[in-house]
Amino acid sequence: MRHDSELDTDALIIGAGPTGLTLGIALLLQGKRVRVIDKHLEGLPYSRAILINGETMRSLEPLGVCASLRAAGQPVDGIELHVDGAAPCTLHGATGASGGPLLLPQVLTEQILCERYLQLGGALHRGYRFELPEGSCDGSAGAVDLLPIDASQPVLAVQYLWLFGCDGMDSAVRSALGLTWRGRSQREPGHAIDARLRQWTGRTNVALHASAAGFALILRIAPLTVRIAGTTAAQCHQVLRQLPVEAITWESSFNIQFRSADCYGKGQTWLAGDATHVHSPIGGRGLNMGMADALALAEAVARQDIDAYVAQRKPVAARWVRINYGMSRVLMGSALWSQLLRWALRFCVRLLLAGGGERLLQPLFVRIIRVNETQA
Ligand SMILES: Cc1cc2nc3c(=O)[nH]c(=O)nc-3n(C[C@H](O)[C@H](O)[C@H](O)COP(=O)(O)OP(=O)(O)OC[C@H]3O[C@@H](n4cnc5c(N)ncnc54)[C@H](O)[C@@H]3O)c2cc1C
Repeated sequence: MRHDSELDTDALIIGAGPTGLTLGIALLLQGKRVRVIDKHLEGLPYSRAILINGETMRSLEPLGVCASLRAAGQPVDGIELHVDGAAPCTLHGATGASGGPLLLPQVLTEQILCERYLQLGGALHRGYRFELPEGSCDGSAGAVDLLPIDASQPVLAVQYLWLFGCDGMDSAVRSALGLTWRGRSQREPGHAIDARLRQWTGRTNVALHASAAGFALILRIAPLTVRIAGTTAAQCHQVLRQLPVEAITWESSFNIQFRSADCYGKGQTWLAGDATHVHSPIGGRGLNMGMADALALAEAVARQDIDAYVAQRKPVAARWVRINYGMSRVLMGSALWSQLLRWALRFCVRLLLAGGGERLLQPLFVRIIRVNETQA
């Protein structure tokens, strides 16, 4: 294989997803030389995450990306509840001290991060993959050959002081380090649809439809684009039929896993983001936790105290994977107890609404948003 002359860097980041790009920007701002590589020639054309919470926005402020993110996103200005066909109820006022959560397709988040990363002088090599045999990496600083996706291109040989695996749930860096990836899968898949509308008719940027058949959320991710996310394809399509749809732009069922890495790395090689934890999209935390990992990791590198990174982030991830598993069983599980609990929840909401309980639900909604914001 043909080799390019060896490239030198302080930090080699595998993965140009939200975690890798956030880490790249934070390290560049410390004056480090950074190279990010990604096996895809372009960012993925579809969006997985669509929510950035207020706490994440606050912590991204020093990176110089927040104005662009806010300009591109839609605020979570409230939620419209449709429960068992009862008259809908609108709850407002989700914006907390941090400016509140923002609905923004991951494609755009990555684009904005990438522009900032390149503007700061970061090197980006697309179309190269990191691949080493399982357990063959001892974590020390060194050199690695990155393989081109297009065989006519030269191998990229990179010498690094730090290697960071931000390469998602099937992390090749985690595998090269030989780390254990523990957890379980959910039997019930989730379903999501993105659709372009002819016009916007909603009262708030989020709506929840819940019935005995399951639930579906409508999330306005651009002025005339919605994401419908729900328990089944049928449930999502039923909600979609009530909207002035121009075209479905993306649709997918996805399997849900709850996993975390036992160890976050060793020596000069560390993992962050989905490479260390995955869970269901309920709560919209995956991307937020990846960005928080990246910022904590960059700070730990600056302070030369990597133990602080693990001590800070690992318990947060373990706790959220546990809570998220419970939430997913309740909201999506097919077991009888899950169905009964969902029925009881809907019954309580209906009772509250019948008794003019919007006044009670309103502060509860604001509180849920605030608690979610402080946990990333
Ligand atoms: C349907 C769905 C909805 C979601 N909704 C939300 C939400 O609303 N809010 C939220 O916070 N999170 C959400 N998530 C989770 C979120 O998408 C992920 O947590 C997030 O993408 C993780 O970012 P990451 O950078 O760690 O990994 P990824 O986004 O997976 O990026 C990893 C990158 O590494 C590259 N890569 C992988 N292996 C290699 C290799 N060997 N060599 C080179 N490059 C490699 C990949 O090409 C990719 O670009 C959702 C997920 C799904 C599936």
